[in-house]
Amino acid sequence: MNTVKTVDAVSEKVQHFPCPSCGADLLFEPQDGFLTCPYCGYKEEIPKSTAEVQERAFEQYVRARPEQMGQLANNALEVQCQNCGAKSLFMPPEVAGRCEFCGVQIVAQPKSADPIMAPEGVLPFRVSHKDAGDNLRQWLSSLWFAPSGLKQFAQPEKIHGIYIPFWVYYTNTSTEYVGQRGDYYWETETYTTTNAQGRGVQRTRQVRHTRWSNASGTVPGWFGDLLVPATTSLRSERVEALEPWDLEAVRAYNPAFLSGFKAQRYQINLEQGFERAKDLMAPVIERDVRNDIGGDEQRIDDMTTEYFKTTFKHLLLPVYAGAYQFNGRVFQIVVNGRTGEIHGDRPYSPWKIALFVVSLVILILIIVVLFRSF
Ligand SMILES: [Zn+2]
Ligand SMILES: [Zn+2]
Repeated sequence: MNTVKTVDAVSEKVQHFPCPSCGADLLFEPQDGFLTCPYCGYKEEIPKSTAEVQERAFEQYVRARPEQMGQLANNALEVQCQNCGAKSLFMPPEVAGRCEFCGVQIVAQPKSADPIMAPEGVLPFRVSHKDAGDNLRQWLSSLWFAPSGLKQFAQPEKIHGIYIPFWVYYTNTSTEYVGQRGDYYWETETYTTTNAQGRGVQRTRQVRHTRWSNASGTVPGWFGDLLVPATTSLRSERVEALEPWDLEAVRAYNPAFLSGFKAQRYQINLEQGFERAKDLMAPVIERDVRNDIGGDEQRIDDMTTEYFKTTFKHLLLPVYAGAYQFNGRVFQIVVNGRTGEIHGDRPYSPWKIALFVVSLVILILIIVVLFRSF
């Protein structure tokens, strides 16, 4: 409590969304997208920003100056998980609670959040916490051979809404290459074989050869919407499974969308994110180079790509996440905050599997015995 007070005293303008009729904090309600009072039901629309979700120039932000950094909200707090190191940001009355990524209760005191490169856009939650919890319960009950302890996890408070940071890149490319083009040609070859009578005979056949010639050139390219997660707290295949995102519904960032939710601080910075974007572009660039070389086969000896007029957006995408420890392993569950789709790790109970196998064997034995007695 004390910490919160100090933080409040420090920030001049505290970003609160008080309910005009009862004074409680308004929370973002995913189902209608309104700020809603959980006590009296008062609703307030989040003003639609006329500002488009602008892309920013990569070069100007890759080594961000302090004045380019900001706060998610004036009264944003930050807390770091003592177990996995993930940092999350939130506004009072939200509390640190359990870590969404490793399931450990966070004991550290939240502090006033360090500035971050503020997001341009946010994809607001559309699935309510209750619906996400219902989906989770259903998913868990559908799992075969899950340990009984897992069912305890099927409580909505075990998952929490958290915005996950992403970078989106747009860039022009120019790729210079040196390589070789292979064109097939056929030649008639004479060879000797033995016929049915065991005598040697001469035959001809068509043989394929490749004529190689030098090739070089420059291939232009343009890439957009290269979505790179700025988190390392969720495994990449887990994050990929959440795709596709309806990015056309992204709204200009407004702290009101965060009211009642957390946001994770990015762990992969703008520059590191672009290195990953290059990996996404590489196979497309290579295909374009091969097309440019033409012929039947291509060899690429050297290839250099320049990236220019690169722009980016920093986006927050909505996820309900939770984690639990089972036999010393961390199992993560994520729910897409737009669609309700669930992806998660699941443990298997060796006892339940053993029991199933034993029952199956007994069943087979009974059937065998019954058949024998006929
Ligand atoms: Zn109210
Ligand atoms: Zn953690």
